[in-house]
Amino acid sequence: PPDVETLGRSSWTLLHSITAQYPENPSPTLQSETRTFMNIFGKLYPCWFCAKDFQEWMKKDGNAPRVSSREEFGRWMCEAHNAVNVKLGKKPFDCDKWEERWRTGWKD
Ligand code: FAD
Repeated sequence: PPDVETLGRSSWTLLHSITAQYPENPSPTLQSETRTFMNIFGKLYPCWFCAKDFQEWMKKDGNAPRVSSREEFGRWMCEAHNAVNVKLGKKPFDCDKWEERWRTGWKD
């Protein structure tokens, strides 16, 4: 299996890319499916200790997936990623820049 870092980088690329293509006005059905997707993702993520901590983080107050719009979901994913960054002793990413990084491209 891939190592935890390679798996992580690929997984964050997939997850942030999903938020970047998420609708600005998702239907109630899609919102519900997206919540289910994140919960199942948290169960199936193939690094057991990562999955365990991620599921626990999602269960905390205010951390359940926010999926009512692209902006909300993109920010939520950024916050989820930052929780892992902090746990690993990395600097948190500026979530005002999630869209520039993952959707529209850097401005420079
Ligand atoms: P990554 O953290 O993989 O980030 C890739 C790129 O995303 C960065 O270069 C940056 O441009 C951008 N980025 C960084 N932060 C954000 C943000 N907040 N929002 C938007 N974009 C951002 N590893 C462990 O060792 N232990 C764990 O418990 C663990 N749990 C994980 C749980 C999940 C759900 C996932 C998906 C990964 C987990 N990882 C864990 C892997 C870890 O998060 C990193 O992917 C890995 O350490 C490689 O880090 P990296 O520095 O290359 O960049």
